Amino acid sequence: MEVVCELKIDGLAIALTYENSGLKVGATRGDGVTGENITQNLRTIKTIPEHLNKDGISLEARGEIYMPKSAFLELNKRQSEMNQKLFANPRNAAAGSLRQQNPQITAQRELAMFTYAGILTNPEIKTHEQTLLYLKDMGFNLNPNFKKCKNIQEAINYCKYWDKERYNLDYATDGVVIKINNLAVQNELGFTSRAPRWATAFKFPPEEMSTKLLDIEINVGRTGAVTPVAVLEPVFLSGSTVQRATLHNFDEIKRLDINIGDRVLIKKAAEIIPKVITVLEKGTENTGTFEPPEKCPFCNTKLVPAEGEVNLYCPNTYGCPAQLKGRIEYWASKDCMDIDGLGGSIVAQLVDKNLVKSPADLYTLTVDDLMGLDLFAEKSAQNLYNAIRSSKTPELSRFINALGIRHAGKEMSELLAKKFKTLNNLKIAKMQDIMDIEGAGEKIALSVLDFFKNSYNNELLQKLEANSVIPKTIDDSTSKDNFAGLAFVITGTLSAPRDNFEKIIKQHGGKVSSSVSKKTAYVLVGESPGSKFDKAKTLGIKIINEKDFYDLLGES
Ligand SMILES: [Zn+2]
Repeated sequence: MEVVCELKIDGLAIALTYENSGLKVGATRGDGVTGENITQNLRTIKTIPEHLNKDGISLEARGEIYMPKSAFLELNKRQSEMNQKLFANPRNAAAGSLRQQNPQITAQRELAMFTYAGILTNPEIKTHEQTLLYLKDMGFNLNPNFKKCKNIQEAINYCKYWDKERYNLDYATDGVVIKINNLAVQNELGFTSRAPRWATAFKFPPEEMSTKLLDIEINVGRTGAVTPVAVLEPVFLSGSTVQRATLHNFDEIKRLDINIGDRVLIKKAAEIIPKVITVLEKGTENTGTFEPPEKCPFCNTKLVPAEGEVNLYCPNTYGCPAQLKGRIEYWASKDCMDIDGLGGSIVAQLVDKNLVKSPADLYTLTVDDLMGLDLFAEKSAQNLYNAIRSSKTPELSRFINALGIRHAGKEMSELLAKKFKTLNNLKIAKMQDIMDIEGAGEKIALSVLDFFKNSYNNELLQKLEANSVIPKTIDDSTSKDNFAGLAFVITGTLSAPRDNFEKIIKQHGGKVSSSVSKKTAYVLVGESPGSKFDKAKTLGIKIINEKDFYDLLGES
């Protein structure tokens, strides 16, 4: 069976409709469905013909818009010079460029298109290969590397060949699409609900690249853990430029027998985080294996090994600027206080300029302080200022997570919040109370107790509270039972119709009676209460106002 093999381009699928040989509409194709109309932007791409080479033709052409790797590297260089956001990979850059409001910006982005399919009405065309060649005649740009294969073995050879050669292309490809050449056979096979039966894709394995190890950087994280990071000669790998890779720890360095100047092979683990796999060739500058540092490069404190772990630690918990940066960055991160725009480079400046000595100091920063940072204009300073302010009333679980209590990550923070409901309850929690939580052993319980015993942490909590950074208490409305079995009587005028309060009481398992008796648990009193108020006083029933009511509910 004859097949056509084409490189699968890692770009954006689009469809172009031509009427009477003129480009009428161009749109994105998400999941096989026509998406956004982006005709004006597509008209700026040189490899898309405005008019076909022959008159009077109507057809639909499909292809992939991509950004060449070289253009991508240039674009990111320019973005970086203008202090604009960098694109993660050529595909994102192409997508961002296509969705510009202003076609002139799209025009500057050096996008290109490879056409890979057409819906034609020409009866003389019997094969996919003929379709491609016809499209080429009409003025479309084809990927020159497509190949008609006589049998499946040729197709396999094609895949093997391009798995190696793809690194030398100026565009990203993530696999090969293999299509049956004969259109009549294609028609007969048709489609499943998801895809054509006459085509299949081969995905290339994760890329590996060789590059030079320029340096080994020492990172000190928020917990004091010291990790070595490989600084690499920039290399393009699985769709993005890689300049750094993890080396995990110093045992790993010993295992790899690696040193600065060596040629190394890197790959993306799970295709996201790059890692160094092996040394290909020892460098001439340094012999032997890289030795771990004896002192913290940030605070000069002697590093210590951690018990039962391969990592080294900087023991200067509250004096090490690297650990402080790590803590602040963690504080601002998504699963913690979620302060938009407060990333690593800004945190580093705030700490280096002595503007921030603890997370609490974030909340006394002024717009002027922020405008003093490198490359910060008034608008970005104001935005960050607003983002910090609006983070002052976090969910309790996020706040606990942000504190960075050892061994208590995101999930444990949620469990602690659920169990203790308020920060104060957590502060005074007993060992056994914490250990009652499923999954919380002695190690976590001790760590929580230690945290709240520590004077630095207590000072931090006081400062946060003084700056009105106060986590929400847990709203128990979802558990619906904190009024279980309690009888309420309502009297006087409240801020909302009585029905509302009756509803809330019932939702939480309580009931509402019309008269006060010894069985009444609470009398909720509004303005100008009636005789029920007096009766409650006589019987010694607990009298509460609206605020007390909401406190009981756990909302304030
Ligand atoms: Zn240190």
